[in-house]
Amino acid sequence: MAKFDKKLAGILTKCGVITEQQRDEALAESEKNNASLTQILMDKKFCDEDTLVTAIADEMNYYPVNLNRIEPSPEALELLTEEQSRNYQVLPLSKMGKMITLAISNPFDVLILDDIKIVTGCEIVPVLTTETQIKKALERAFKKQVDVQGELQSVAKELEGQLLGVDLSGGSTEDAEDENSAPIVKLGNRIIEDAYLQGASDIHIEPQEHCVYVRYRIDGILKDQMQLPKSSHRALISRLKIMSELNISERRLPQDGRIVFKKYNPKFDLDLRVSSAPMNYGEKICMRILDKTKSCLPLDKLGFSEYNLTMYRDLIQVPYGMILHCGPTGSGKSMTLFAALNEINSPEWNISTAEDPIEYSLPRLNQMQMKKDIGLTFAAALRCYLRQDPDMILVGEIRDTETAEISIEAALTGHVLFSTLHTNDAPSTISRFSEMGVEPFMISTCLVAICAQRLGRRLCTCKALDDPKPEEYALLSRAKDSLPIGKLVRPVGCPKCSGSGYKGRIGIHELLKNSDELRAIINKHGPVEDLKLAARRAGMRTMFEDCMEKVKLGITSLPEALGTARPDDTIV
Ligand SMILES: [Zn+2]
Repeated sequence: MAKFDKKLAGILTKCGVITEQQRDEALAESEKNNASLTQILMDKKFCDEDTLVTAIADEMNYYPVNLNRIEPSPEALELLTEEQSRNYQVLPLSKMGKMITLAISNPFDVLILDDIKIVTGCEIVPVLTTETQIKKALERAFKKQVDVQGELQSVAKELEGQLLGVDLSGGSTEDAEDENSAPIVKLGNRIIEDAYLQGASDIHIEPQEHCVYVRYRIDGILKDQMQLPKSSHRALISRLKIMSELNISERRLPQDGRIVFKKYNPKFDLDLRVSSAPMNYGEKICMRILDKTKSCLPLDKLGFSEYNLTMYRDLIQVPYGMILHCGPTGSGKSMTLFAALNEINSPEWNISTAEDPIEYSLPRLNQMQMKKDIGLTFAAALRCYLRQDPDMILVGEIRDTETAEISIEAALTGHVLFSTLHTNDAPSTISRFSEMGVEPFMISTCLVAICAQRLGRRLCTCKALDDPKPEEYALLSRAKDSLPIGKLVRPVGCPKCSGSGYKGRIGIHELLKNSDELRAIINKHGPVEDLKLAARRAGMRTMFEDCMEKVKLGITSLPEALGTARPDDTIV
């Protein structure tokens, strides 16, 4: 920075922020002590941080920012390593498409921007701040995770020590069993914060005979996080039940509740859906994390193949009819539905949703949380929406005849109805409707499309190329697509992916588009096999084929793909 100090001091003098005398004094000191000029100017109270930044920004045509008031997005933070950010004295703030908003502290060194452009492969929009602010912001951004984990461990230790002490003295175990004792309150909070910062979707607190396991589900895989002393079990469960507003004296029956975590730590705007279950070694608690700040990803970021994305985008533009998503819990159905709604959302449409729970919120959407205990069911919400001048309706799930019938009625009377079903693949979703007692011609008439979906793990950047073995080659060639079979990618493992070789997940899809042939088969109660063949003739690629395409493109590995979708039995 030193070689740019004269320029910087020159600008500040020219703008009248500092006097010539102050300039000379600061420059001399900076040279003598090899210290930052801006820091000296502020230490000597020649000018304050805001004045300094705005003066330079104004002169050099940059937008000034105050990093104390801006949180960098997690996506932006992944663009550079902590070390790179420190070396360049920059901080990525946000990313939109191929553009990064980057906070810089040295507007004179243009080479930095060129370097970062190459490292990230993105265009840079620089905004100006000071070295000190970048240093502090980097500390906050990169230390956050470490801190929570460190604190969690110390709380667990403290608890263990406390319990141990109590046991040895032979006195009462009151403190350890007290759900309001400081370590228990802290432990409850830290577990939730830690899981959230690690990107977990679920937290499991599981009592065993002699200990309690805490596990998180991250990227679809359950992982051990810590082992707590058995004596902390009752207090921790009670604490979590208090937070969830559950009845703490009821330990013999399952209960459902919700934690509004903001009440316990205002920095974390998340809710947790809590379920308690009476197990043989005591109560187990499972919590699903609902991140309220989680933004909805655009459709083209969900892993749709080019082929499926074009078809899906076209299908969601229909004027009326039913669009269904199917797959097990946690397969990303609601993520895709909200990405679709986000794409069609406009001032012209009334989009209403009935959800349980509300996971994402979008501006302008009318969203309703279901409350079964007072009779607010999907069917009740649907009936209400039909009198609310709707254009598009999203129903969280169709699992009973009543909801199925009203949904079809809505789709047949000029509305677009989106919903989900817990079926395995697209063709078998149709037969689920007949099982629910819906007349085949009703479903054949209103159905637009069914999208079956799974989430597979995405390979981390540490992946390696290898030649496919003969049996792997045979599997890959079973998929009917035009992609050549070249090298195969295999997981490796690095610190970034905690050695697993995978980081993040990607959607695997199977998109069935209704056709005349399908309608005829549905109307005469045709078997699932016939539906599948007809769907393929209408252009459907199976989930297995979608997986194989993603293996060929190096996005995921073959074992992961096979664990996500089984090879098709019948391929035409
Ligand atoms: Zn890795």
